[in-house]
Amino acid sequence: MKNDFDIQEYLSAGADIIVKDALHASFKNSKEIRYLLKFSRHTKKANDIRKKYAENGQNIPAFLIASITSSCNLHCTGCYSRANKACSDDIPFNQLSSEEWEDIFRQAKEIGISFIVLAGGEPMLREDIIETACKYPEILFPIFTNGTLLNEDYFNLLDENRNLVPILSLEGNEEITNSRRGRGIYNKIINSMDLMNNKDIIFGASITFTKGNLALLVSDEFIEKLHDIGCKVIFFIEYVPVDGKNKDIVPNDEEREILLNEIERLRKEYDDMLFLSFPGDEKTSGGCLAAGRGFFHINSHGGAEPCPASPYSDINVKDNSLIDALNSKLFKSLRENGILMDDHEGGCVLFEHKDEVEQLLNG
Ligand code: SF4
Repeated sequence: MKNDFDIQEYLSAGADIIVKDALHASFKNSKEIRYLLKFSRHTKKANDIRKKYAENGQNIPAFLIASITSSCNLHCTGCYSRANKACSDDIPFNQLSSEEWEDIFRQAKEIGISFIVLAGGEPMLREDIIETACKYPEILFPIFTNGTLLNEDYFNLLDENRNLVPILSLEGNEEITNSRRGRGIYNKIINSMDLMNNKDIIFGASITFTKGNLALLVSDEFIEKLHDIGCKVIFFIEYVPVDGKNKDIVPNDEEREILLNEIERLRKEYDDMLFLSFPGDEKTSGGCLAAGRGFFHINSHGGAEPCPASPYSDINVKDNSLIDALNSKLFKSLRENGILMDDHEGGCVLFEHKDEVEQLLNG
């Protein structure tokens, strides 16, 4: 990592690029343009707030991942959330209330966090919290959903509140998606995409990137289909074998490089779409962005964790502020002892260093 690497410069540039590309991608959509122009002013203000904190030695990430429920209506093969026990069929226990999430959203706005990813389990099961998110247009909420619970009420909510952006999970084509998520799920997702496109609602797709499906995911046939149905952003999420199984389908460095090059190609070919990858190009971000460097995770009962793929926490935001969470003993030691910048085999450095993270937690 370059010595003079400035994480806040990197995050602000990233936020500006997302807004610029989103404006370009939505130029025909007046409602979206009106919202994005306001949002772009908010992100500039948020960039300045974070820079002020940085001048006083406090790094504030631009992104937060919020798992707002431990429930889900699907049982997808290899679900990382179920493997981590962050999602189960048990009756939800000790979940944060919508008032507690509202307090988190308020704090996030005040310290300059611009993007809050709503995840789960299935976030659409918590309509109360999604309605609460509508009160914070200064923050953009990508909602990572399996897309099966979208209905007329949700379409109206999304239409009226453009800071909510549904990101529907796909595994690839119909066959692959249904083989992992269940029969008929693919058509349900495509049907919801079609309905949102007809209502000029901006939406995206998140696709799990594995060793075997790269060629399909970046094929013109697949991307063209999503483009034509009105999809405006695609997240390529790298598979992390959190259940310790299927390590053979984890992409290697060469495939990771191919994906990054393909993303550059797709950005040129489809300039009315956004293409993002997670965990992204750690070479340009100076290492892993978890543990508050660029983002962190709050689980459904308030535990502050470095990342959803690293479900460890030593502090709870039920009775601590977001700033306290960012300065937790675990987060600080992860940022200071070099694990985040460490070279590693698979896509997720914290998953690779699971044992060291547990030692730090119990140390
Ligand atoms: S929809 Fe998501 S949280 Fe639910 S089972 Fe599938 S992968 Fe897991």
